[in-house]
Amino acid sequence: MTPVSFLRLGWHFAVRLVARAFLPARGLLRFKESYGREGLFELAREEQEVVASLSRCIACGICDAHFGDFTNVARNTMRAPSDVVLAHTRSLPDWDALVRPLAQLERGDLARIERLCPAQIPLARVVEVARRRAEALRAERVSAPPALPASNEKHDPG
Ligand code: SF4
Repeated sequence: MTPVSFLRLGWHFAVRLVARAFLPARGLLRFKESYGREGLFELAREEQEVVASLSRCIACGICDAHFGDFTNVARNTMRAPSDVVLAHTRSLPDWDALVRPLAQLERGDLARIERLCPAQIPLARVVEVARRRAEALRAERVSAPPALPASNEKHDPG
């Protein structure tokens, strides 16, 4: 490293320290701008609690057994409630795919299933949070600018 490049590195380091001390942090904002449309969004504290509660599920299947009481449910859209708890909610970027299964789940008696669940998963709140987030994510993706058309022309470096 030459003395000039060493001085330049030191100068940029000092500028960075001063900027960090006096300018507002934009990291989280820029993260949201970049990844919000991909579904990597922040969760409010209440939503974090709901998502964290999903990890308590012990896959006992009690909710599934009582899911048979539901009427007018399209089983090809959602097999059973534990699918939502154990699988469908595990990836935030895929939550927009939850809208249809949640609509099926809402047709049942969620309060009854909550009472039966040994892990006390708050299923009604799970549905409420997931629906809100799924619809927001869908709206975000619909409003996204169209992707650039793929070019069939080969790059000619000249
Ligand atoms: S009853 Fe509760 S713990 Fe059992 S599978 Fe359903 S959500 Fe999980």
